[in-house]
Formats: sequence, structure tokens, C-alpha cells
Amino acid sequence: MNKKYRRAIIAGNWKMNLRPSDVKGYVDELRAALPKTRSCDVVLCVPAPMIHALGKAVRDCSRIAIGAQDVSQHEKGAYTGDVSCDMLEDLGVKYVIVGHSERRRYHGEDDFAVNAKVKAVIRNGMIPIICVGESQFQRERGLTLELIDYQVSAAMSGLNEELAKRCIIAYEPIWAIGTGAVATHEQAQEVCAEIRRMVKKNFGAKTARSVSIVYGGSMNPANAGILLSMPDIDGGLIGGASLVSHDFAKIIAATQQE
Ligand code: PEP
Repeated sequence: MNKKYRRAIIAGNWKMNLRPSDVKGYVDELRAALPKTRSCDVVLCVPAPMIHALGKAVRDCSRIAIGAQDVSQHEKGAYTGDVSCDMLEDLGVKYVIVGHSERRRYHGEDDFAVNAKVKAVIRNGMIPIICVGESQFQRERGLTLELIDYQVSAAMSGLNEELAKRCIIAYEPIWAIGTGAVATHEQAQEVCAEIRRMVKKNFGAKTARSVSIVYGGSMNPANAGILLSMPDIDGGLIGGASLVSHDFAKIIAATQQE
């Protein structure tokens, strides 16, 4: 982490787990377990039906921000089942995960849709957490960096420097998500540095220096410290380990290292 230029961020991705009635108890536990010093921004990206409950639970707590896991690229209208940026913003959402590999895989989200969503999120004053990452097949064939360059450029296409600075980029190797097969700190650093190089190429050095790039993929209290000590890893996007408040708090505490 480079705290001189960037804020560290730890975001939990609950995916399709827990229930609205679990939210308050979880937040109470997390608040009690949070480290005293604020070493990072903390976000909980919960399923849409839980956003209201999360808003209530964190009403008097400025340390936990509300996040969503996806959003429609359309403003409003006949899109049954979809949720708009305007709705999320109205509920107090600050961060939206865009282009998670599970959305790409199970919902056919392509890079054009990801780009449209990134723009919609920014237009509505929220922060996109843009997910990129390679499959095992792509890594084994040496395609990782090429793919990452393409995904980053496509997701941020059409943004200017100011808008690009509002993005957070999450490197999430698909083979490490939910598998327990975490990327080594060298592998994660290599790709996060490549993402920063790409942002620099597209938006200049100042933007690249200020954009937060996080790692996601089986991050847990045991491996968070080494991953977060890497110069281009500014935080984490955490799935499984964010479901247990005490584990999530330990990962947050790992951002306190210098
Ligand atoms: C994720 O899905 O964003 C993720 C990182 O999941 P996990 O931590 O469970 O690998």
C-alpha cells in the first residue's frame, strides 16, 4: 500500500449470502471489532434487498460505507428485475461493484456493459469497484497481462482523467475466487502494477498514482498482511471471509501496517 497517495480500502462482497435480518447483528459485531484507528475505508457490498437494513444499521457509524454488488446501466424503464443507480444512490450507496467475474460468467456481462455501468455509477456520484481478472486457462497460456490491459482499458473507455480518478480497480483472478487458491503476493503485485501502468498510459501519471487498486480472491486474515504490504495493492475485495465479522475485522486491521 502506498498511503501517501492513496486511501486503502477493504470491501466485503457478501454475494448471495446472509439475510436482511442478519445485517444488524453483523454490523454490531463488526463495529465492536474494528481497530481504533482508521487505517482504511471499509465498505460492505450487500445484496440489493439488504441495502435498506444496512443503511439503518450504519446510520450512526461513519466508518462503514454501503456498497452494492451490481447495477443496471440504464437510467430507468422497462428492465424487469434490474436496479438503477438512482435507486442505489437514494438508499445511501457509495460504492458499486461492476464487472465481477460471476456477473460476467452467469449473466453474460461483456466489456461494453461493464463500461456502460462504470459510466452510469460515476454519473450518479458513486464509486465503481471495477473487477478484472484472468481464468486459470488464460494464466497457464501466458495471457494474463494482455487480458488485464484490455479489460482495464475497456472498462474505463471514454472517461477523462478526473472521472478515472474516481474508480477503484479490483484484480480478481477467477481461479482464486472462492477456491482458497490465493494468488501469491508476487503474482498479485505483478498484475496490480500492470493495472497501474495501464491507467498511467491511458490517463497519465497523476491519475495512476491516485487510483486505488485492490486484490480479491480468497483473501483472509492469514494472507492479508503480506498481500497488503505490496506497493501496488491498496486494499482488498473480500468474499467468503467478509461473511464472518471477526475475520473481516482482522483483514481491516491488517491495513494498519506501515
Ligand atoms: C469475490 O468474489 O469478490 C471474492 C474475492 O471472493 P473470495 O474472497 O471468496 O475469493
